[in-house]
Amino acid sequence: MSPSLIANSHGLFLASETGISDLNSKNSRASKTEDASSYATSTPNNKQQQNNEYKLQIVWRNVLIFVLLHAICVYGFALVFTGFYNWKTLVFTYIYTVFGGFGITAGAHRLWAHRTYKANLPLRIFLMFAQCAALQNDIHEWVRDHRVHHKFTDTNADPHNASRGFFFSHVGWLLCKKHKDVMVKGKTVDMSDVLADPVVRFQMRHYIPLVIVWNILIPTWIPWYFFGEEFMYSFVICMARYTLSLNGTWLVNSAAHIWGMKPYDSTIKPTESLSVSIIAFGEGWHNYHHIFPWDYKAAELGNYRVNFTTAFLDLMARIGWATELKTASEDMIKKRVLRTGDGTWYGLSQLKNNADDKGHHHHDHGDMLWGWGDTDMGQNDVKEILKFNRIKG
Ligand SMILES: [Zn+2]
Ligand SMILES: [Zn+2]
Repeated sequence: MSPSLIANSHGLFLASETGISDLNSKNSRASKTEDASSYATSTPNNKQQQNNEYKLQIVWRNVLIFVLLHAICVYGFALVFTGFYNWKTLVFTYIYTVFGGFGITAGAHRLWAHRTYKANLPLRIFLMFAQCAALQNDIHEWVRDHRVHHKFTDTNADPHNASRGFFFSHVGWLLCKKHKDVMVKGKTVDMSDVLADPVVRFQMRHYIPLVIVWNILIPTWIPWYFFGEEFMYSFVICMARYTLSLNGTWLVNSAAHIWGMKPYDSTIKPTESLSVSIIAFGEGWHNYHHIFPWDYKAAELGNYRVNFTTAFLDLMARIGWATELKTASEDMIKKRVLRTGDGTWYGLSQLKNNADDKGHHHHDHGDMLWGWGDTDMGQNDVKEILKFNRIKG
């Protein structure tokens, strides 16, 4: 069992874990027999039944925690805008936000969840500490939730199902017990590669002391000790940073699943969102990302200003710490744009002139992947990616 941050839950972000365990023990026979394929082929009646079984159960402890965090955040903002803080504290807080952000984007997301590249031991250790600074559950739990999100996007099995609206996909999912499909379907997603990493296992074993040190103590202590801030106010800005960065991550699940263009696949909810990309260090090119989740850039285009994480990974590749960075070939992208895009792709008119299958448009959800190594990946795609990227062993 992974460590518990508060009381009897697995952690702050898996509010519903206890409820899910109860449910699982009651329905253990059902969950054993049900698998991904039975889910994919379930009839509307079955779905109706699943919906009927679900009852919204609010986890008040988490509501209280998040209300408190946001209240402190507002207070912190008021202090910042009244010129209360030393400018060094503000610069440090920004740098620390980026540090924690990379733990999520370059670490938990692009490395561990999607396996878009390989990282050597020092980089994995760095990203693990950075991921502790972000405090969004340990890597193993984060990856499990995220892979389930990609495999069962915007269904009941998606932890932050955007079909349930902005609030639910943003923060609501952390304030109530999870739908049982999340755990039932979650069990069908392979996690063996993540558990095989000793860095991940180390973090799981020592998660609570690690997050206390990296999320709270270090960022509170530095402005107090080096820049002469009052300890209490140093803590306030630390919590404000944490709350703000949580909202940055949540926007990827909410805003980037609701508003924006869908140049790569119009049949799914995820969109291309410039504003979310700016806030979430390049993670808002979400329509692309859901179609090519194994791409280390998590975007087709863009520059480093709206994709900080890609800049960081390119730097890591230059010094040899990141290897086997995978990205989609132009040909793969064009084929996909023609097949399922919504017509907003930047080079579409030229592309249509050259293409044989003008306007051909399929609607299928049959190929949702969690990333590199997903057994549902087409072998032709694997070959093309390997050839295109000239991956070195
Ligand atoms: Zn993802
Ligand atoms: Zn998504």
